[in-house]
Amino acid sequence: MRQSQNNRRFYWLPLLCVIWTIPASAQWTTVWTPDSAPAPSSGEGHLGQGSHKSNTNRPPCTEWDEYEREWKKIYDPENQGCCVHPITGDELVTEHAENADLTEVAENLGYCRDGVAGVTFCYNGSKVSTLCPYGQSFHPAIQQCIQEHENTHVDDQNTTCTNCDTKKSKGSAEDKIDGECTAYEKTLRCLLTPSVMLSDVPEEELEFVWNETMRGAEYFCNKDNFPFL
Ligand SMILES: [Zn+2]
Repeated sequence: MRQSQNNRRFYWLPLLCVIWTIPASAQWTTVWTPDSAPAPSSGEGHLGQGSHKSNTNRPPCTEWDEYEREWKKIYDPENQGCCVHPITGDELVTEHAENADLTEVAENLGYCRDGVAGVTFCYNGSKVSTLCPYGQSFHPAIQQCIQEHENTHVDDQNTTCTNCDTKKSKGSAEDKIDGECTAYEKTLRCLLTPSVMLSDVPEEELEFVWNETMRGAEYFCNKDNFPFL
């Protein structure tokens, strides 16, 4: 199932920056859609004429509660994530990250393209990271180093996700490049840290990953301050 090294080589580099090039809207394709309760229209029931509670001003993901006389969320913020598609305004409810299979989410969102090992992306307004199936095809010790790279992106304060309505990760191009450098450095250090697990990685696989990670580091890092160059 693994591709030849030559083929895989081509894919390694873009793997970890994929997040920054994916449209934010794509993040919303793996959600389930609740049956949204119909909102009362103006003039309906005892709201009567002049009511402000019309379909057009119904806040997203809410229904009108006659008793409380207020718009109530039709999803449970305690147990679910976000609700509104930032572009289309469609009502879509996501799971909380801890309840979601993030690999599956990433796959459904199109992040796990052929050869992509791991991704960091916005989900419910927060950064999350996961391995893609390709990344999971590596030795567990390698997987851990890929995950450390992604975790570096998650921890990077210079790139942020905001609320559900503005889900695109924000950060300057410079910060993103710096972030990749830091993340690749993290991967290299991980690969250099002696461990029983790492010593178990087939030499060929370790060499492949090392070389590709170095390529990433060389691409994103300033040669003056990168310790491995
Ligand atoms: Zn990266």
